[in-house]
Amino acid sequence: MAGILTAIKLREAGYSDYVIYEKSDRIGGTWRENTYPGIACDVPAHLYTYSFELNPDWSSTFASGAEIQAYFERIVDKYAVKPSIRFNEAVDVCEYEDGQWQIVTSIGRKDTATVVIAATGVLHHPHMADIPGLDSFAGASFHSARWDHSVPLEGKRVGVIGTGSTAIQITSALVDKVARFDLYQRTAQWIMPIQNTAFSAEEKAAFRADPVKLREMRDQLHTDFQAFSNAVIDADSAEMQQIEDACRANLEDNVRDPVLREQLRPNYRAGCKRLIFSPDFYDAIQHPNANLVTTGIERIEPNGVRTADGVLHELDVLVVATGFFADSFIRPAVVRGRGGVDLDDVWADHPVAYLSVAIPEFPNFFMLNGPNGPVGNFSLILIAEAQVAYILQLLAQIRAGHCRAISVTPTASASFEQLRYAAAKKSIWSTGCKSWYLDKNGVPASWPWTPDRFFEEMTEPKLEAYELAS
Ligand code: NAP
Repeated sequence: MAGILTAIKLREAGYSDYVIYEKSDRIGGTWRENTYPGIACDVPAHLYTYSFELNPDWSSTFASGAEIQAYFERIVDKYAVKPSIRFNEAVDVCEYEDGQWQIVTSIGRKDTATVVIAATGVLHHPHMADIPGLDSFAGASFHSARWDHSVPLEGKRVGVIGTGSTAIQITSALVDKVARFDLYQRTAQWIMPIQNTAFSAEEKAAFRADPVKLREMRDQLHTDFQAFSNAVIDADSAEMQQIEDACRANLEDNVRDPVLREQLRPNYRAGCKRLIFSPDFYDAIQHPNANLVTTGIERIEPNGVRTADGVLHELDVLVVATGFFADSFIRPAVVRGRGGVDLDDVWADHPVAYLSVAIPEFPNFFMLNGPNGPVGNFSLILIAEAQVAYILQLLAQIRAGHCRAISVTPTASASFEQLRYAAAKKSIWSTGCKSWYLDKNGVPASWPWTPDRFFEEMTEPKLEAYELAS
């Protein structure tokens, strides 16, 4: 998403000498890699769309992964992005030497670049749960982001480990298609009951006929989502309270069995973990085929999952939906800045980036959806668009001959991080739960202020925060 966007915007700005490295043989990022049953984006489709390529044809409020993948493929064709993509070529090393970035790729190619933009995404290194015996399972077993579609599910006993957004979507999609469905829950989740309504043929025709109507709808969604994003940064806000009330009512009203209801009741505040939007998870988990397992997993055995109470839950297929390493960003690529400073060392405590785009001692190196950006239930497309526009203004300094290298000053970066860290501790994400939002010190890694403040910061770089070197 972000790489395609960058290519389009670079060309629009008059740049022609750029290349996109793609580790895979196809575009699509998240939407290429995640193909599990039920995959959909929890940001409304009309908001999860490039602002310059609105799509009147989204089938429903929340689009499926396949529909989003098709959207990006259409855009890549329309804007002729493919010729600038080097497929099957991951970046292994990026080293700043003599004022240039020296790049080594997975096929051994060596390139030189003035500027590097890391559009490598956030959640793309699968985290396999560290559960004893996982390799010993005799049936089919895979991570949710590596779904093996050759494995038949019909009539099978399927187990899913994890209760994040991924596992919840898989549950709704599979529960009535298999013989038995076990969901292994370590921590219960709050569920926001948001409906996924299909757009009728008439509605889509109306959007097609009237681009103003289409944009107004998107603007309204943007306003609604801003309200949500504003709520989560203030754990004590009335809006946050409304969200919590809606989640609690969803649980109370829609889970009939009191024992199951208590098993599904989280012991932390709604919104602390990434809030899950689902119109039908509670229905799915009450399906006769469904079996919520809340006793801890002791080990995996060839025939299934052995829980701490000694019970063996026999399975044919085991899905590991245990999330991603959320702090990798461009890594495992080796990135060395000025004087050989290693990104791994700079980020040894936790990943930090000034306004989520720049790191001191890494001149002409910028990130899209890097650390510390607004990731909480928000459209990463809008974030990336704002970041690209910001980075292009920095590049304009180089193009205008004002400098050859531009890097954020250590002072600006440190003072940003100090303020950010303090504010992050007041957000709903740090009210006492574990989640991939937290760094290893337990402090939220994301943008702790309003999205409006982020967009405002992205409007124009404050050049005094940067060192412009000739
Ligand atoms: P996740 O939110 O990190 O959830 C991982 C799950 O695995 C958690 O329930 C976790 O339990 C469990 N887990 C981890 N290690 C375990 C272990 N050793 N034993 C038992 N359980 C274990 O991952 P995800 O569901 O893949 O979602 C990641 C993010 O991707 C989402 O938050 C969202 O940003 C994005 N996403 C979005 C959508 C969407 O748009 N609808 C869909 C899928 C994913 P604990 O809670 O106890 O740690």
